[in-house]
Amino acid sequence: MDPVLLKYAMADVPRYTSYPTAVQFASDFPQETVKRWLGELDDDKSLSAYVHVPFCEKLCWYCGCHMSVPNSYDRAAQYTDLLVREIAETSSHVGGKKGRVEHLHFGGGTPTYLKSADIERIVRAIDTHLGLADGGEVAIEMDPRTFSRQAGADLVSMGFNRASFGVQDFDRTVQEKINRIQPFEQVEQCMNDLRDAGINAINFDLIYGLPGQTLDSVIETAHLTAKLKPSRIAVFGYAHVPWFKRHMKMIRDEDLPGVSERYQQTIAITETLVEEGYIAIGLDHFVLPEDNMADAAQNRTLRRNFQGYTVDAADALIGFGVSSISEFPQGFAQGERDTLSWGNAIEAGNIPINRGLEKTAEDHMRAEIIEKLMCYFTVDPVAIAESHGFSKGELIEAFERLKQLESDGMAVIKGNQVTIPESRHLFVRSVARAFDAHYVESPNRHAKAV
Ligand code: SF4
Repeated sequence: MDPVLLKYAMADVPRYTSYPTAVQFASDFPQETVKRWLGELDDDKSLSAYVHVPFCEKLCWYCGCHMSVPNSYDRAAQYTDLLVREIAETSSHVGGKKGRVEHLHFGGGTPTYLKSADIERIVRAIDTHLGLADGGEVAIEMDPRTFSRQAGADLVSMGFNRASFGVQDFDRTVQEKINRIQPFEQVEQCMNDLRDAGINAINFDLIYGLPGQTLDSVIETAHLTAKLKPSRIAVFGYAHVPWFKRHMKMIRDEDLPGVSERYQQTIAITETLVEEGYIAIGLDHFVLPEDNMADAAQNRTLRRNFQGYTVDAADALIGFGVSSISEFPQGFAQGERDTLSWGNAIEAGNIPINRGLEKTAEDHMRAEIIEKLMCYFTVDPVAIAESHGFSKGELIEAFERLKQLESDGMAVIKGNQVTIPESRHLFVRSVARAFDAHYVESPNRHAKAV
């Protein structure tokens, strides 16, 4: 691999699903601040809500999510009770009229681990206390291995209209090495059942860099994926962090592709999906031309938040459930990561927030520059700085860092316009990092760029 590319591929860089990034959040963030932010939400602006369900049937060895495998359903039932109380308490502080939730997303874990009746209680609580907007998006992540036709029909009756599947790789050898056996036919059946039930907006997640993956196997997975025609596909790199997620020790180091192979794999997946008719969006998304994310990219209304690329233009995202992150115009707040502490806070009548960050005016300016780069690969940082009441002077350090990126071919600078060449889109996070005033060099703090 080209030594310059290798240097960037090996760099630890944030995913920039927010700026400042979550590692900057401070502990013991004041609840009163979050209550004030909830109260100050603008009456006329739409809202988003996220619900975290941290349970799964079985552990996948590559899993980097905040989840557990409970030994009985009782834990999930208790969790649902607490979640409903959290939604009621948090929503009681929300200013403005009801019915503004245009995006509701259930993530995890595996949200469909919950019984349909419990999912319905949560949806109803959001609708009662915040109000779902007519025609909004109601999305859920699901596991094809545990999905039933009846569950699909139940979801549609509750108003769900988008579903996401963790597919990762269709190769049997790879599936064995990650403890997730999920044949193509099972995923195909699941898609057919969902479509019959009325959900046509279906997302897939694929992963490269998994144990046992080869160039041929990822290309085959990309072709098989395209055959099923999911409307959106997100492609992520596996981050092997066994010192942080102990179950990853089940994956043998010698089975993992090296950095050069990972690079080849991601390029091959991109080329295959584009050849199959998908439009590449941002760093890692692919969409069918008829998906509304293609329009958002074209119209420059694409956004990036904690769920990755989104068409969601809401003023605020309110998170519910353990470890969930809320985003307000003023800053971020994250729920307790420990389920016991989270539950105790709710029992005590509190909003179960632990960490958070209030953005400064400079953070807002840098956040906009980074988001534009992550979405469109080109930005005029000085124009954005000026629109926030700053000048180019505030970006001197960024332009200094950009000189090296430019000489390495990662960016082209014309006047004040910074553009990432198409062949270097994969390294956009390194260019975005030039504008990150909080970044601290620290090994293993962030995932590798490739
Ligand atoms: S189903 Fe998803 S969240 Fe659950 S263990 Fe597997 S990868 Fe993790």
